[in-house]
Amino acid sequence: MKITDLKCTVLGNNPVIRISTDAGICGLGQAEIAKYYLKPHVLFYRDFILGEDPTDVERVMLKIRRVGAFKPWGSAVSAIEMALWDIAGKAAGLPVYKLLGGKVRDRVRIYNGAVRPPMNGASPQDFADAMTKMKAAKEGFSIIKQGIAFHSKMVTAVPDFFYGEIANEQGISFHSQRANAVSDSNPGDGVKESWGGSHRSYDLNRGLMTERGLKHVIACVEAMKDVLGDEVGLALDCGPGMVVPDAIRLAKALEPLNIMWLEDMITGDYMPYVQADLYREVTRSTSTPIHTGEQIYLAQNFKDLFEKQAINVVGPDPCDVGGIAELKRVAEYADLHGILIAPHGVGDGLIGLAALVHVSATLPKNYIAFEYPVGNPEWWYDIVDGLPEPIVKDGFIDVWDTPGLGVELNVEKSKPYLPEEDKDFFD
Ligand SMILES: [Mg+2]
Repeated sequence: MKITDLKCTVLGNNPVIRISTDAGICGLGQAEIAKYYLKPHVLFYRDFILGEDPTDVERVMLKIRRVGAFKPWGSAVSAIEMALWDIAGKAAGLPVYKLLGGKVRDRVRIYNGAVRPPMNGASPQDFADAMTKMKAAKEGFSIIKQGIAFHSKMVTAVPDFFYGEIANEQGISFHSQRANAVSDSNPGDGVKESWGGSHRSYDLNRGLMTERGLKHVIACVEAMKDVLGDEVGLALDCGPGMVVPDAIRLAKALEPLNIMWLEDMITGDYMPYVQADLYREVTRSTSTPIHTGEQIYLAQNFKDLFEKQAINVVGPDPCDVGGIAELKRVAEYADLHGILIAPHGVGDGLIGLAALVHVSATLPKNYIAFEYPVGNPEWWYDIVDGLPEPIVKDGFIDVWDTPGLGVELNVEKSKPYLPEEDKDFFD
């Protein structure tokens, strides 16, 4: 079998790739939502993989893996890897999890990342109200993650939250803002235009927190725990942007609350480096589990975090780390060091969801849960065939057995949403 084409389009605000073969089998992959700008990057790799046998996944990946990088520049490589596994599974008549070594579990636990009500403000009551709604969600989540501190609107809503200039008025990452901003975007050509706006900056809010800021964070976490009790686990996405002394103070203050993990306090989202020594200082100072890793590309770049015992939980994203086999490699490497894994996935869309289900079914016992992505815009649920209904039951997804990733874009239903320039996407 030979690869005959690689195409990329942006469906809604989701970059989707399609690899075709001379056997008539096609594979799908996708990058995180909000990365419409990746299309030329995906197509850059096309000439390197044409004519290759897609079922020799690793041999194909060796041709392109070296020209990738930390988020967002590992996304195209990751999406291609995913699509190769999809083809290999279809060619063998087997679900992708079988090709990755087979199931360790029949159902995979998820945690809530993407199912969240809009919040009015950043007071303890606002956070408690959000938890009440998420605890009642039909998915029955057993773990909920919430953004706080530099990963929330506290930065602007709390006067003098930190000793620094506000670089980003929303107090959250560019990625999150845009993902929310376009959730109701029009299909097709309208999408790119809807990505403009006055907050177009990747600058980061970062610095020493004030005592008032720290106390506010702790009060909000206490209010959330009052709602969740010991029935639903609470994980907290905190930055990036905190300094080591604040990270230690926060982690120690929260010790009595049995938080599942504190994520990305120092580095994380869109930061092209790791700072393992700083994480180690925090991790060695507290019993609260410390988590990072969503932006990291390739297993090699986790080396310092693992070998220095710098974190307790790692959160690679299959759409950024280099793909699903790469994610499994990271999970096994983490397990050798007693480090847990909770893969990131909030923006991975419904094809990414399929990839997360397959790889998570195969991970070692250090697996906790992956971050559940939703279809965005909502019409994504109409154009994807193959997902279970309902997708989530009691906080778990049953692993499905259809060949490949087991999800397909319904051609007729998808076509109206294709941008004008990509009308030949399915040809
Ligand atoms: Mg995060």
